[in-house]
Amino acid sequence: MWRASILTLYPEMFPGPLGVSLSGEALANGSWALETRNIRDFGQGRHRSVDDTPAGGGPGMVIRADVLADAIDALGDDGRPRLLMSPRGLPLQQAHVRALAAGEGAVIVCGRFEGVDQRVIEARGLTEVSIGDYVLSGGELGAMVLIDACVRLLPGVMGGATSGDEESFENGLLEYPHYTRPLLFEDRAIPDILRSGHHKNIAAWRRSEAEALTRERRPDLWAAYQARQPPQKKRK
Ligand code: SAH
Repeated sequence: MWRASILTLYPEMFPGPLGVSLSGEALANGSWALETRNIRDFGQGRHRSVDDTPAGGGPGMVIRADVLADAIDALGDDGRPRLLMSPRGLPLQQAHVRALAAGEGAVIVCGRFEGVDQRVIEARGLTEVSIGDYVLSGGELGAMVLIDACVRLLPGVMGGATSGDEESFENGLLEYPHYTRPLLFEDRAIPDILRSGHHKNIAAWRRSEAEALTRERRPDLWAAYQARQPPQKKRK
């Protein structure tokens, strides 16, 4: 079973949004498991202190290497990847999510304050993962984002609904637009082609919409996509 073990100072934040809808139902029916460990339980002294002032000065507090290492070690090493949520990390992408979802799960460390002592990152082989170029107040929301993205890919979680290679990012493109009833909404009709029943033309239309959207909104994805196309299919 795919297992997420979270090291956090705020275990009460979990399962939070992971406890509802798809991920919540999958959690309830045992398609995946979630375990939280409070880093505070490994804190030092009567006050279970977990942080201290940054060496070299500066604002804020840093989570101690020894405290976090004890919390990580208490989980044992079962070969699952050990991740640290961090704005300095590898920006999370669907390909990483796929690879993670195909494994046994993950141990996820959630930082707080200014972050964690560099030495525990190195000594425990933590892979830093970012959910985007902005700064959160803690790693918990990032961990939830990562887990949510993985869980929906687990076998059985989305039933037949997982369109896999058609979804945004799966084929290097953003997804085509969707429509459903009513046929007419405030003078806007569903594009005729989608009602033609001609599956091949519909697929071609969706592909060209996806390409146009990607080209317009995400020049970075578009360039990478273009580079992967056979020469005769390349367009500017
Ligand atoms: N001083 C740090 C930011 C600390 S924010 C810096 O400038 O890099 C506190 C914690 O929130 C971090 O330790 C990390 O666990 C989490 N966090 C903040 N932004 C994040 C992001 N974009 N992705 C993943 N985790 C993030």
